[in-house]
Amino acid sequence: MESLVDGYLRHIMDNVRPDRSGHVADYIPELARVDPEGYALSLCVHDGHTYSLGDSATSFTIQSVSKPLTYAMALHRHGPEAVDAKIGVEPSGEAFNEISVDDRRRPKNPMINAGAIFAASMLLPSRRDVDEADIDAAFTQILEFYSGCAGRRLEMDADVYASEKATGSRNRAIAYMLDSFGALETSPDAALDLYFRQCSIRVTTEDLAGIGATIANGGENPRTGRVMFSHEIAQRVLSVMTTCGMYDGAGDWVTSVGLPAKSGVGGGILAVLPGQLGIGVYSPRLDEHGNSVRGVETCEHLSRDLGLHMFNVT
Ligand code: GLN
Repeated sequence: MESLVDGYLRHIMDNVRPDRSGHVADYIPELARVDPEGYALSLCVHDGHTYSLGDSATSFTIQSVSKPLTYAMALHRHGPEAVDAKIGVEPSGEAFNEISVDDRRRPKNPMINAGAIFAASMLLPSRRDVDEADIDAAFTQILEFYSGCAGRRLEMDADVYASEKATGSRNRAIAYMLDSFGALETSPDAALDLYFRQCSIRVTTEDLAGIGATIANGGENPRTGRVMFSHEIAQRVLSVMTTCGMYDGAGDWVTSVGLPAKSGVGGGILAVLPGQLGIGVYSPRLDEHGNSVRGVETCEHLSRDLGLHMFNVT
């Protein structure tokens, strides 16, 4: 028999499913080809138990939902002062792929592409002549870290990676701009290569819920008990997700949902209720900010019905 929670989640999905507004990302053929009807929701609670509904076996590329994880890795490796010297923590109010920096010529935050490409560069050896083996080694660490947060072995989609790399002029412009300021210690191409690989890792909503629960739990995966990062890093990551995770839709999101979150153009959204819950939603049609339309709506319902808004005072 369906549990109370499953029944409730199904009810939300039945309410949201008829919304077919928005458009699937089409900047690469692999994303344009996905089934626009795909829709899945997973919740991972504090003891690791996961509720999943809809197409939760469907995997999709993590895309920008990767950004908080790579930022966590950069914080772990270099410490907050060194990372802050290079990447700001101010909301940009701009599109995710905006070519902009602050008055110290730092990317404004790690949730937009400029900051995420910089964070990826900080996982490479600090020298210009980084080679393929260095990028492979850094990517192995990324895959290991993301997998540890998700609680299962993840893999990269080689076709998406090849397409991201072949079409990434905008990201290349961002990395070369950062390089022109003398900010990058690696070559811009090496940073981009690593960034394109991290965006191409395939996940399910169960993986996103597990990652969310790991962040909610202060860095310890509640399913495996593995400690992936410190409480301080979890707090920092949650802060930037709250202020910058939904790009120029961040204000609307905080008002209506009120949870730290991160979206990706693959159609995934990861949301976190600190101390309690990781939420993964998937639906590939996107709004004008590049956030999943049904994903946002699903989280609005969850937040409203369950009183999850972080400033809930009732
Ligand atoms: N690969 C995409 C890009 O870098 C990711 C962007 C996103 O998910 N918002 O443009």
